[in-house]
Amino acid sequence: MRSLLLSRRDLDFLLNDWLQVEKLTSRPRFAAHDRDTFAAVLDLAEEVATEHFAPHRKLSDAHEPVFDGERVHLPAEVGEALRVLAGTGMIGAAMDESVGGMQLPQVVAQACFLWLHAANVGTAAYPFLTVANANLLLAHGSPEQVDTWVRPMVEGRFTGTMCLSEPQAGSSLSDVTTRAEARPDGTYRVTGTKMWISGGDHELSENIVHLVLARIPGSPPGVRGISLFVVPRFLMAADGAVGERNDVVLAGLNHKMGYRGTVNTLLNFGEGRFTTGGEPGAVGYLVGEPGQGLAQMFHMMNEARVG
Ligand SMILES: Cc1cc2nc3c(=O)[nH]c(=O)nc-3n(C[C@H](O)[C@H](O)[C@H](O)COP(=O)(O)OP(=O)(O)OC[C@H]3O[C@@H](n4cnc5c(N)ncnc54)[C@H](O)[C@@H]3O)c2cc1C
Repeated sequence: MRSLLLSRRDLDFLLNDWLQVEKLTSRPRFAAHDRDTFAAVLDLAEEVATEHFAPHRKLSDAHEPVFDGERVHLPAEVGEALRVLAGTGMIGAAMDESVGGMQLPQVVAQACFLWLHAANVGTAAYPFLTVANANLLLAHGSPEQVDTWVRPMVEGRFTGTMCLSEPQAGSSLSDVTTRAEARPDGTYRVTGTKMWISGGDHELSENIVHLVLARIPGSPPGVRGISLFVVPRFLMAADGAVGERNDVVLAGLNHKMGYRGTVNTLLNFGEGRFTTGGEPGAVGYLVGEPGQGLAQMFHMMNEARVG
């Protein structure tokens, strides 16, 4: 029996009869695909959603994340579902083959992700945030940042977050006070507190790539003074392995009705618990140019509907 999460018949009608997605295969970007490959990846999404995401949606809502002071505990089924998804390669469904993606049309990739959303919005938030984070870095990051952070996210080894809100700054992002001080080696040291960060701390991935809005001292007031930084949970060693802990500290979990399957966090950057190189502040890497942070972040916010 087909899944009852969505009507595949309706989805096929919308994609094939109404939108005529097959015509996209005449474009060089999608030339490797045809109607059969679109159908195959939709079958896969339906299977993963039905067999691995849907069965634990009540469980992870009833057993929200728990912080024991050191680690966040989630139902094992969440991690298992994400491992299965990573194995399908679907995280990079619409991304370039050059970064490990499938280079599918966005409309087909979104139809695949719809299955995961329909099955379990809490577990689906982790890959959706990760895809949006990776897409932001593909648009605005350096080639080195793409190699270091995007490729492992596409492989499903790293997950991503967006860190905009602060306890005193929600809609009013011009009030962001998190600071990023430049160091002679070109890196930054980030200090401040971010509130309501979805997927901010867990053991589901080898590393968490936080995209953080912060001010470089001396920047203009208001949103023009906000820049964007990659601040990873773990620094990367010279050989490309996941290295020492960065000073990103989980201060506590937030509880939200209706969306309890996704861990939501209060994060302290530069609290001093994991000081690296004897200097205060979490190590951060500027994305693009200073002062472009909010515009860049909208690249992710417009996509990460679950943030
Ligand atoms: C489930 C969930 C997940 C989240 N995940 C993330 C995340 O991953 N990363 C992150 O950075 N943040 C996250 N957030 C925070 C979210 O982005 C903020 O809640 C949002 O920016 C609103 O801020 P606030 O809650 O402080 O509300 P406020 O800014 O205090 O707004 C309260 C009310 O006042 C209204 N209001 C505010 N300013 C004005 C104005 N100038 N004129 C008229 N009305 C106004 C708003 O519309 C709203 O109705 C998450 C929030 C939720 C609920």
